[in-house]
Amino acid sequence: MNIERNPTREVRIGHICIGNGHPIAVQSMTATKTQNIDATVQQINALHAAGADIIRIAVDSRREAEALAEIVTQTSATLSIDLQENYRLAEVVAPLVHKLRYNPGHLYHHERERPWQEKVRYLADVATEHDCAMRVGVNCGSIDPARASEYPADDSISPMLDSALEHCRFLDEIGFERYCVSLKDSDPQKVIEVNRRFAEARPEIPLHLGVTEAGMPPDGVIKTRIAFEQLISRGIGDTIRVSLTVPNDRKQEEIAAGRGILADVAAGRVRSVVNFGLDTLNIISCPSCSRVENEAFVELAADVKEMTAYAKDHAITIAVMGCRVNGPGETDDADLGLWCAPNYVNLKKGPESLGQWSYDEILPRLKAELDALIASRAQETAAS
Ligand code: SF4
Repeated sequence: MNIERNPTREVRIGHICIGNGHPIAVQSMTATKTQNIDATVQQINALHAAGADIIRIAVDSRREAEALAEIVTQTSATLSIDLQENYRLAEVVAPLVHKLRYNPGHLYHHERERPWQEKVRYLADVATEHDCAMRVGVNCGSIDPARASEYPADDSISPMLDSALEHCRFLDEIGFERYCVSLKDSDPQKVIEVNRRFAEARPEIPLHLGVTEAGMPPDGVIKTRIAFEQLISRGIGDTIRVSLTVPNDRKQEEIAAGRGILADVAAGRVRSVVNFGLDTLNIISCPSCSRVENEAFVELAADVKEMTAYAKDHAITIAVMGCRVNGPGETDDADLGLWCAPNYVNLKKGPESLGQWSYDEILPRLKAELDALIASRAQETAAS
């Protein structure tokens, strides 16, 4: 298949270039605790050996930044740092890595009185000083509240787009062009729509594609494939990440899945006519990362999938999230949602919190809620 790629500008990330027709780079992210230097080095090098072009690591504290200083001495991989709330760590980590990712939806947590423009200018200055690229990483589970408040609750695409476009305008205004953008949702159809509209508005800006919280294989790969096939075959996308909920020793599957989808699209082997998840049970789960509140998360996600299999023919979405960063936001849109805390799991029904249960008690609790939901829907159908 001859794909005409969008004329995006070139962005160098260490010795990797994306955009401007360069091969689509395949990424992944560590799910080990960043402070666990040996485990994180082992995962980075395993991903690197599996063909990862860029590897992202979460850093939220000075102690994690100190661990990073040791980690980078033990790998030659191209590294990106995921900054969420604590953007001030940029000046500590930038000298050690090749790229910084910030989330416009989490910039307001620290120094609330300070305008986001000042924080982004600081990030751009630090990136320039330390030869780093940047990613403006917008995520459906943490949209900038200022933008979200301007649209109806059921429209997540418009505020995501607005948030990304205003950050691009500001970065261009201050003369920083070495950045790419991502617009991620857990619904592949929304990923297609929001990236298509962004590429229409700013075709020159490289895009990092991903279906966030895609879940466990094979479902997570299928959901991601639906979005990537539709976008990449249109020439949209310069780097990709397949977010899979897998145990740490299987993280390389993200790279194999990404390379597999790229090879299929290039060969014209596209399959995205699959109607996925909208009228059957849909499990959304995050790929985990250093922020995961409890190592039992990946096992919990797998147990939820197994326990709920009896409800496969019901159009119900269940979200299972590893921590408070995207947990509360992402579970708002699900019919039933779990997001992890260190010693208990929060259970939600849409935006409504139902309470907290221990990791041992949560599954039967979830089953009770699922059964009640199925029963109430059956009554509604019978009454209609
Ligand atoms: S929800 Fe939390 S644990 Fe899961 S990937 Fe996002 S930040 Fe990491």
